[in-house]
Amino acid sequence: MNLASFLRDVPDFPKPGILFKDITPMLSSPKAMQAAIDGLAALDVGPIDKVAAIESRGFLFGVPLAMRLGVGFVPVRKPGKLPWKTNRIEYVLEYGTDAVEIHQDAVHPGERVLLVDDLLATGGTMGAACQLVEACGGTVAACAFVVELGFLGGRKKLGQHRVDSLIGI
Ligand code: AMP
Repeated sequence: MNLASFLRDVPDFPKPGILFKDITPMLSSPKAMQAAIDGLAALDVGPIDKVAAIESRGFLFGVPLAMRLGVGFVPVRKPGKLPWKTNRIEYVLEYGTDAVEIHQDAVHPGERVLLVDDLLATGGTMGAACQLVEACGGTVAACAFVVELGFLGGRKKLGQHRVDSLIGI
């Protein structure tokens, strides 16, 4: 299946100059979503204890992936959304600055975590999520994306971590 055909390019969203990769055509196709989850589940990242994904589009892939792999799911969220004790990391992204948080007890020391998001742009968001997992004592097994915008160099920014993507642009 040509997964890339289930992406829609939206120019100048959310601000001028950004070519937004809209995943809603993929979400609306059960066959495409099946193929995406199959592809992520087939990545040979070794044994993992948890899947962590980044709010909010990462959740759309992270939860079904965690269920498929038979492991727990950890939400990485924007500030103020998680109710329990959190750790926070601030980061710079393609269109602005932001921060992400994780529950302090979401990942236990020694656990191997597969991190997932819909799209790799500059890598700032995923880099912050990796730091959160590591601050809990976890190990990053890999960073997996449905879409990778290669020209933004996010893979290099994630440097020391393994990076996988299903669609390279
Ligand atoms: P970054 O931190 O720069 O790698 O940005 C990644 C996050 O921003 C992901 O959660 C994406 O959902 C979102 N994002 C950034 N750029 C785009 C884009 N061109 N199209 C769709 N989503 C994007």
